[in-house]
Amino acid sequence: MTAPSALLTVRDLHVDYGVAQALRAVSFEVSPNSALAVLGPNGAGKSTLARALSGLIAPTGGNIELDGRDLTGVAPERIRRAGLIHLPEGRGVFPALTVLENLRMATARDRRARAAAIERAFDIFPVLRRRQRQAAGTLSGGEQQMLSLARALMVEPRLVIADEMSLGLAPKMVDLVFESLQRARAEGVAVIMIEQFASRALAFADRCLILQRGQVAWAGEADRAGDELLHRYLGSATAA
Ligand code: ATP
Repeated sequence: MTAPSALLTVRDLHVDYGVAQALRAVSFEVSPNSALAVLGPNGAGKSTLARALSGLIAPTGGNIELDGRDLTGVAPERIRRAGLIHLPEGRGVFPALTVLENLRMATARDRRARAAAIERAFDIFPVLRRRQRQAAGTLSGGEQQMLSLARALMVEPRLVIADEMSLGLAPKMVDLVFESLQRARAEGVAVIMIEQFASRALAFADRCLILQRGQVAWAGEADRAGDELLHRYLGSATAA
């Protein structure tokens, strides 16, 4: 049985790519409106976890429940509709379309509901209101990530997986990404953050999961993941 407090429950998850085991016996929970940082060295299985949760790859064992609903092996579109949105590496916006068009395309609701959802997105991210007529491809990297998140929030998700959203961004733009995710949390959304900047992710998150060779090497409160632990599992990847 799922503890009533858990939004997402992952039990004994296994993912294989052919004969290669990418995830083994991964179990954890995410509470509503909380943030979980998923850390680990290259190849540890972080992106595989994100893909399995969002239905892009089928687990070979274990199960995934969102709000008590079994989502194991369910198609990505149904998982999205159940309220779990994966923001993959890369920007996930249509560069030739304007900011407004990108937001319009994010939801299939009727015109009035869509206008209200766009208005809400502009309230959360005022920068996007100012740039609504600008082609998305001409936004800064951080602004594009903000638009990608705003698109995700249009469907009022319960949980957003932010997969390396600050990858390749200048420090100021990384600030913008974290600020945007903070705003998503203020809207009641839970966040699973896969992030190269371990210290920043830990400052943002409530809990932390460290993966190593496809297994959970450590799990606990984010503020207990001290330098020694990070150094042991992440080596030089602990950059602030
Ligand atoms: P990084 O931080 O480098 O992105 P990661 O922690 O996200 O790494 P994954 O991309 O999940 O790691 O990869 C986990 C393991 O699975 C790696 O050994 C990788 O080589 C392997 N892998 C990933 N995708 C595939 C695939 N499509 N086919 C075969 N093996 C794969």
